[in-house]
Amino acid sequence: MRTQVAIVGAGPSGLLLGQLLHKYGIDNVILERKDPDYVLSRIRAGVLEQGMVNMLEEAGVAQRLHQEALPHDGIEIAFSGKRHRIDLKTLTGGKIVTVYGQTEVTRDLMEARSAAGLTTIYDAADVSIHDIDGTSPKVRYVKDGVTHEVVCDFVAGCDGYHGVSRQSVPQSAVQTYERIYPFGWLGVLSDTPPVSHELIYVNHDRGFALCSMRSAHRSRYYVQCPLTDDVAEWSDERFWNELKSRLDDEAAHKLVTGPSIEKSIAPLRSFVAEPMRFGRLFLAGDAAHIVPPTGAKGLNLAASDVYYLSRALREYYGEKSQAGIDAYSANALRRVWKAERFSWWMTTQLHRFPDSDGFSQRIQTAELDYLVNSQAAMTALAENYVGLPY
Ligand SMILES: Cc1cc2nc3c(=O)[nH]c(=O)nc-3n(C[C@H](O)[C@H](O)[C@H](O)COP(=O)(O)OP(=O)(O)OC[C@H]3O[C@@H](n4cnc5c(N)ncnc54)[C@H](O)[C@@H]3O)c2cc1C
Repeated sequence: MRTQVAIVGAGPSGLLLGQLLHKYGIDNVILERKDPDYVLSRIRAGVLEQGMVNMLEEAGVAQRLHQEALPHDGIEIAFSGKRHRIDLKTLTGGKIVTVYGQTEVTRDLMEARSAAGLTTIYDAADVSIHDIDGTSPKVRYVKDGVTHEVVCDFVAGCDGYHGVSRQSVPQSAVQTYERIYPFGWLGVLSDTPPVSHELIYVNHDRGFALCSMRSAHRSRYYVQCPLTDDVAEWSDERFWNELKSRLDDEAAHKLVTGPSIEKSIAPLRSFVAEPMRFGRLFLAGDAAHIVPPTGAKGLNLAASDVYYLSRALREYYGEKSQAGIDAYSANALRRVWKAERFSWWMTTQLHRFPDSDGFSQRIQTAELDYLVNSQAAMTALAENYVGLPY
């Protein structure tokens, strides 16, 4: 098979890139190691920056989003038993975030891809990438026991943190930076109305908590937990009691509980691989970087990488210019590191660390107290939360 761009991974970054390239008249094939149902069963992010919504519009997949998504003008930060609102819209001159589940973004992109008759090869096993230093890279995969080869101009590695793309590059060519946090997030999805219209980020003596949602009827809640915890130790009742104990009285009283429809523990990590281009292989999304979810940036960073990469490829084919391709890694990384900083800062301010003592807890409270009483500090948070410009 011959194509212009072979995309490895049908997560949000691979599917969005594929849809935009199709709009620009650039032929592409996606290879995904799982089946479509598995891809759609992963419950992950839910807060979209305006830049990502704009890209979904450009890709022609935002109709359902505009009908069903929840626009959010603000968030709340709770500490010392009180909630404080950060008015994102006023502080940023009108910018907001949109709550729409990653699963729904993925579903919309999958449906558009299938309606356009574009090739996605699911259940593609043993994907391997070859000849990225020449002009004709190849991607091989095994399907139903038979080995196939895709010959292309470029390979986009959109295959997440555990994918094959980053692993295909000699270790000496990649520099990695990493921070692993000494706790995880226990998340519960439930068909209950959200406790509040806006997200509540909670700093509490018992640990961090987050009240989030996917729709007006579906809530997503998290509590910070030790990494050694097993999800089987967390009955629904234990989870709801723990969450209530970390909320202010009004929220604890209002919280509607119900059976969990998904429950999992996610570790928190910051990770960046540099550069994001190796010859004719580009990395995008989680294949190149991971952020702890505290700043709601993982999915949005995947979208900003796709922004730079899709434009670079359009320039290459449309204007026969290498400039965008040559600048891709530096452009993407500049924004990646700012989101890494913000996600690290949110995580540091809101969680209890195992080694935190009285001094560090008072510094945390002082920082949060400063934040909610300073227009400048709230503006800095708001600008980052709604997303820095591309
Ligand atoms: C448990 C969890 C919870 C999260 N919660 C949040 C959140 O609340 N907020 C937030 O902003 N972000 C969150 N994130 C991060 C966010 O979901 C990711 O940043 C986003 O999915 C990145 O998209 P991606 O397409 O780059 O990677 P992925 O979504 O990981 O997609 C990669 C795709 O590549 C496929 N693949 C992997 N290896 C191969 C291979 N060898 N061959 C072919 N295909 C392959 C995978 O099956 C997958 O479909 C969460 C992530 C996880 C894991």
